[in-house]
Amino acid sequence: MPICWLVSGEGNHRPIRLPHLQTVVLGRGPETTIKDKKCSRQQVELKAECNKGYVKVKQLGLNPTSIDSVVVGKGNEVKMKPGQKLHIVNQLYQYTVQFKEDPTGGQDRTKRPREPASVDRESHREVPGMKAAKQTEKVPTLVSHGEATKSSGIGHWSQGLKESMQDPKMQVYKDDKVVVIKDKYPKARYHWLVLPWQSISSLKALREEHCDLVKHMHQIADQMVQQCPDASSLSFRTGYHAIPSMSHVHLHVISQDFDSPCLKNKKHWNSFTTDYFMDSHDVIQMLETNGKVAVKEGTSEMLKLPLRCHMCHRELPTIPALKEHLKSHFPQLRK
Ligand code: AMP
Ligand code: ZN
Repeated sequence: MPICWLVSGEGNHRPIRLPHLQTVVLGRGPETTIKDKKCSRQQVELKAECNKGYVKVKQLGLNPTSIDSVVVGKGNEVKMKPGQKLHIVNQLYQYTVQFKEDPTGGQDRTKRPREPASVDRESHREVPGMKAAKQTEKVPTLVSHGEATKSSGIGHWSQGLKESMQDPKMQVYKDDKVVVIKDKYPKARYHWLVLPWQSISSLKALREEHCDLVKHMHQIADQMVQQCPDASSLSFRTGYHAIPSMSHVHLHVISQDFDSPCLKNKKHWNSFTTDYFMDSHDVIQMLETNGKVAVKEGTSEMLKLPLRCHMCHRELPTIPALKEHLKSHFPQLRK
């Protein structure tokens, strides 16, 4: 299927990828470089139908969005095709849409998300040809949120999610309440983080009033799984680390293959396969019944438990042995 790009007529920034059937909300902000106060931060909602060759444009902001000088109107939705001109607001900030053939031909479904070709396939808003940089995780250990924030100002590693969530290259979905980013050090083939725009430091800060937001985060997590090309062959879990290392509450959506070079040690493994990982459903239930999230005493000790396969509970001596063992459950890992 072709890939859809939104191209700035003024060349103000690099093309923005519009993933098939995913809504992308744009307006004033760093992604478009629009600073004009007449343009809402959520001015337009775009949804590409790559198989049909058009983009549905919905005006969300008050001031007029137009296509070929015809005003869309607040709340209305209009189809836009290549060759037509979109003006984000007040006949300004011109854009066109382009559909380009997927250079991978959609044939690279077995590769890891970090590889550039499959980043494309994963519907991430990447610029063609842009290489995913090789990174080494700087987070040394999982520490409690309290410990992490004592000495952590802006720029400290524990604040990294706040930067990543604002970075269009990391964003794979966003709406008025949440943003989804790729985990920078994915611990499986698919690993996303769902973050609310609202500044909430951690699970501990969640209260009953956040229930709707947390439910919405869960719903978006489900949506991410549904759009995953390997959803039929992989299973996923959606949940929170009981004691997160990074500031700003974030919901992990992670495929259960754990096939990633970033999964390097026992802490990584146990943080996703023991009760250290709290299912999103349980968190929602706790908020509904108690108005807060309780973390059991001794939770940090779970990171030290022996390595056990999450599928058959067999104990394995080392991470390489565990990874080898996982191939017996996931034939696709043998490739
Ligand atoms: P935790 O706080 O333990 O729930 O996990 C934080 C997650 O954020 C880990 O899975 C990391 O791989 C990931 N991570 C760390 N730094 C960044 C970053 N700057 N951008 C995106 N993801 C990150
Ligand atoms: Zn097993």
